[in-house]
Amino acid sequence: MKNILVIGATGQIGSELMVSLRSLYGAEHVVGGYIAGVQIPDCLRDSGPMEEADVTNSQQIAGIVDRYHIDTIFNLAAILSAQAEKKPLLAWNIQINGVLNLLEISREKGCSLFTPSSIGAFGDSSPKIKTPQDTIQRPRTIYGVSKVSCELLSDYYYYKYGVDTRSVRFPGLISYVTPPGGGTTDYAVEIYYAAVAGEKFYTPVSAGTYMDMMYMPDALHAIVMLMEADPDKLIHRNSFNIASMSFDPEMIYAEIRKHYPDFEMEYRIDELRQKIADSWPDSLDDTCAREEWGWKPRYDLSSMTTDMIVHLKQKLHK
Ligand code: NAD
Repeated sequence: MKNILVIGATGQIGSELMVSLRSLYGAEHVVGGYIAGVQIPDCLRDSGPMEEADVTNSQQIAGIVDRYHIDTIFNLAAILSAQAEKKPLLAWNIQINGVLNLLEISREKGCSLFTPSSIGAFGDSSPKIKTPQDTIQRPRTIYGVSKVSCELLSDYYYYKYGVDTRSVRFPGLISYVTPPGGGTTDYAVEIYYAAVAGEKFYTPVSAGTYMDMMYMPDALHAIVMLMEADPDKLIHRNSFNIASMSFDPEMIYAEIRKHYPDFEMEYRIDELRQKIADSWPDSLDDTCAREEWGWKPRYDLSSMTTDMIVHLKQKLHK
């Protein structure tokens, strides 16, 4: 990776991936893509090139790839699970037509392409516990349908044209930097903000709803590790299961109460989020990622909770 374009650079993952890539590869080699109307954090605008980059606009993206001699594209543009159910056509346009644009550009210009998939790529008929790498994928959300389609399209471009497409299936990502963008696992970030702010928390999914989650530093590490991995060792491509922890609201609440014994939580179920969460795996089997490119998480629920609280106290001046 010499010259990199990050599309969706202002989002939850993009904003942190930008900082990480700029420190690893040199700020001038990492172009951040944003869409019109979105606020660009000063730290991104001041530290290197930023360009308007809408995935639905092929010409615009191709122009950036040419101007900056881009060899690697990180595509983080998406409408997340809960939002996508409200705007299915928009989700399709960004997650399928947008990806197709990027695959074509990558084919023509010889770029590597990373587009994350999700635990949402599985559905009710997938095995729920330790969901295998290769298994039934019949999701019924538009988010899931778009993720499975994107996995298949990306593999198609690899097998047919040799385009270097690689991807991981992210679990719910937890971070203290940029708030999440409307996914089903957002509660696992919001609960920390409530605890540190001294507020009661209302949980949108029920006790016993287990989902895979991951701390952002591990997610960023996974992206770079996979894109730097020896291609000869990759048996899979789109997309790898990766995992670090699985918990339900009771488990994260109990962990936070070790730091804030008076913290209160109540259930106020959001039907849409509950339905989506019920269709997702409880936990993923990430053996293939471990074997093919050495994936290994660094954080568990306890160490993540301690780190989240330290940083949120600083951020919220508590
Ligand atoms: P986010 O909602 O925080 O950010 C999405 C970004 O896409 C935003 O910066 C938005 O401005 C941009 N965007 C929207 N429409 C666009 C368009 N037409 N062209 C270009 N950019 C556009 O999402 P995120 O959490 O950063 O997720 C990034 C990727 O990771 C997505 O593919 C998502 O499905 C996947 N993922 C995220 C999580 C998570 O917990 N955050 C979990 C699993 C998978």
